[in-house]
Amino acid sequence: MDLGLKDKVALVTGGSVGIGLAVAEAFAREGVHLALCARDEARLRSVGARIADEHGVEVLTVGADVSRAEDVGRFCDAVEARFGGVDVLVNNAGTGSAETFMDASDTKWQHYWDLHVMAAIRLARRLQPGMTARGGGAIIHNASICATQPLYYEPVYNVTKAALAMASKCMAHEFIAHGIRVNTINLGLVLTPDWVETAKTLTEGTPTTWEEHLEAIARDSAPIGRFASPEEVAHFFVFLASPLASYCVGSSYYVDGGWLRVVN
Ligand code: NDP
Repeated sequence: MDLGLKDKVALVTGGSVGIGLAVAEAFAREGVHLALCARDEARLRSVGARIADEHGVEVLTVGADVSRAEDVGRFCDAVEARFGGVDVLVNNAGTGSAETFMDASDTKWQHYWDLHVMAAIRLARRLQPGMTARGGGAIIHNASICATQPLYYEPVYNVTKAALAMASKCMAHEFIAHGIRVNTINLGLVLTPDWVETAKTLTEGTPTTWEEHLEAIARDSAPIGRFASPEEVAHFFVFLASPLASYCVGSSYYVDGGWLRVVN
């Protein structure tokens, strides 16, 4: 199937590992040129060089912390200098949390707000005129099933991901007049290296193996009974960014192995 993405330009935040990396590689397989950012510039640069080499696409890598307005501006400057603009924006960078309302400081709330919500808003505001000039495009927000169905050990994560989903909905309404489709993907359990590292730490010195620990989480959560791989969820991002998804506007799509317990 030709997805009609060849020689387009996609910006993916947090493209050096996990889901962002899988999404970047899936775009590259379609002949899409890439602009990637992450804080660990050395890791990102080596990943970018490998993708460019393996897939024959241009890859721009910029060390940037998207929770900081000045880094977002610097990243966008570099992207516009290299590609003139982008056709696809994937707001992926983000991370889980662990706290209670009573122990989460204002600083923590503000950081997650900047990382999950303001990064997406700042990138969209800055890149929208260029996307419009190129004839439109697609913006995808990688929120989480937790935007709707909370995990109670991470209220800061749940609240900021829910806010991101609402920002995405409002943005979709405004941007479709410019031919830009905005949507949200709410993933369930996706087996990234971070999950594996955490499982190894939690099970060290216990009778449970890290694999058993993860299997139990999957069994208890998702009816499908397993984690997704980053690669299998990445396909959905690429489809949603493609012209084949031309009537998909302002929605939240669940890719969660059946974990969501309500109709939504
Ligand atoms: P990983 O921790 O595996 O990767 C996160 C990526 O984002 C890395 O490239 C990291 O690089 C980058 N990143 C993190 N913080 C920043 C920042 N402040 N500025 C720029 N880049 C940053 O995460 P996942 O792949 O698991 O998650 C990706 C997204 O998917 C997140 O938004 C997460 O909430 C969401 N998600 C994940 C699920 C899962 O089960 N894995 C489930 C549902 C949603 P570096 O550290 O170098 O900055």
